[in-house]
Amino acid sequence: MKLNKLRNGVCAVIAEKTSDQMVRSCNQAFDLGADLVELRIDFLEEEIFVEELLKNISGPTLVTIRRKIDGGLWVKDEQSRINMLQQAQKFGANAIDVEADCFQHFPPVSGCLRILSYHNFAQTPADIDVLHKAFEVKRPELVKIACFANNNSDSVRILNLYKRANIPLIAFCMGSIGFPSRVLALIKNSPWMYANFSDNLVNAPGIPIFKDFISVYDIKSLSNQTNVFGVMGDPIGHSLSPAIHNASYKVLGYDGVYLPFHISASDFLTSIEGYQTIPVMGFSVTIPHKEKAFSFSTTSSDLVKQIGAANTLVKTSNGFHAENTDATGVIAAIKNKLGETLDKREVLILGAGGVARAAVFALKKAGCIVKVCNRSAERAEVLASEAGVGIVSWNQRHDFKSGLLVNCTSVGMHPNENDSPWDSNCFTENHIAFDTVYNPIETRFLRDAAQAKAIVIDGIEMFVYQAAAQFNLFTSFNAPLDVMRKTVLEKLRRKKI
Ligand code: NAP
Repeated sequence: MKLNKLRNGVCAVIAEKTSDQMVRSCNQAFDLGADLVELRIDFLEEEIFVEELLKNISGPTLVTIRRKIDGGLWVKDEQSRINMLQQAQKFGANAIDVEADCFQHFPPVSGCLRILSYHNFAQTPADIDVLHKAFEVKRPELVKIACFANNNSDSVRILNLYKRANIPLIAFCMGSIGFPSRVLALIKNSPWMYANFSDNLVNAPGIPIFKDFISVYDIKSLSNQTNVFGVMGDPIGHSLSPAIHNASYKVLGYDGVYLPFHISASDFLTSIEGYQTIPVMGFSVTIPHKEKAFSFSTTSSDLVKQIGAANTLVKTSNGFHAENTDATGVIAAIKNKLGETLDKREVLILGAGGVARAAVFALKKAGCIVKVCNRSAERAEVLASEAGVGIVSWNQRHDFKSGLLVNCTSVGMHPNENDSPWDSNCFTENHIAFDTVYNPIETRFLRDAAQAKAIVIDGIEMFVYQAAAQFNLFTSFNAPLDVMRKTVLEKLRRKKI
């Protein structure tokens, strides 16, 4: 395969200690869908025979010997490194990776791309566009720029380099903030993106794991027509939203991609504005941005105005429209279990945070008789008076002997799975226990309720319905609920997150 013709490729980075293992891993990576493999020769701990190594690998190869000063493991002399890279050119490597200061040692060799690479593990320099131009002057066949993102504007600046590129470019940001740029680079015409195939790889912050990368993202279908969405929050690494939205796009053949945007509280405005150059068409919004998302929006639903917080921003012709699909999710999960009418149901909400606010206003609107109960009384009082609902003190909560009991606290969430906001012997068969916590799927709260023969509703249902409502707002398609439910259950059962 000609690497200079490659589009939307995935390059499996192979960092093994022995040549035999390196060959095995390379060939395994091809079987699993890699388009090329990067041989990180600097990880080998034995004598290196480049010709022998290349002979045994069944697909396109990129040879890299990264020096310690550039973030690799190579500490031996520079001349032997140069010799080995020259051998790689001669003995059939499809590409070699070399830094600007030694580029002159590598005249062009037909069939072997010279990638001029630049790595910065501390920052994205202010003059990165000047550096990019200087790299192009050396006339490599491809330029690679990987810089650490300290904020989302760094990622935006890196992605803007594609507009000015005259030579094929692979430019992205490292770190968790930089992760979306690794996928957006493919939309911007990067021939491939790197993914980690080995346990040994160190010093590649934010690099995706090969299997996750190709299973979550429909890499081959990305183009500059692809609609970009994502979830913004801090932290965001454990979010299940990218998996369920991307799986839904794939099943419906919708041309979209959904990314995790790690955005700190102070980076909200610059990030959302910066990503309009992509553009990002919609955001799911989580802690700590829900209130800011509402005040930033140009239009919002009445419910969002009442709640004072949004978990969804949809791009419109004049800004962003705000919605709160947590509220939709709460109502849909309950109706799915209890039937359509909620009118006059007695409800006790445990908690007074973001999710509790959405639940209180939504359930009141649906006709329920709602009371709020929170550990910190003051917060409960504020919510109860804003929503015009009743209040129960935290110590008196167990007097609620029948009706719909909704846990909107974070109590019982992984890793504190043995905790519950409700004493086990205070559940009755007249309770309907709904836990908004969805990790673990079966919380202590729900287990105790089921033991007392109460009806139970788990947080997965709310999670799926709130995501489905976002999907409908983002794409105008009907969300595939079964695919969403299956994806989230698989993810939660596979690993504790
Ligand atoms: P939040 O704004 O931080 O509110 C947390 C609430 O939990 C507050 O009311 C807090 O009471 C209470 N709390 C925390 N620790 C407690 C303890 N040890 N004892 C008693 N109360 C305690 O969080 P949020 O955004 O509302 O999220 C709450 C939960 O909802 C999350 O943990 C998450 O699992 C779940 N959630 C579910 C979905 C879904 O789709 N299923 C979506 C989002 C969130 P104080 O005011 O006294 O601190």
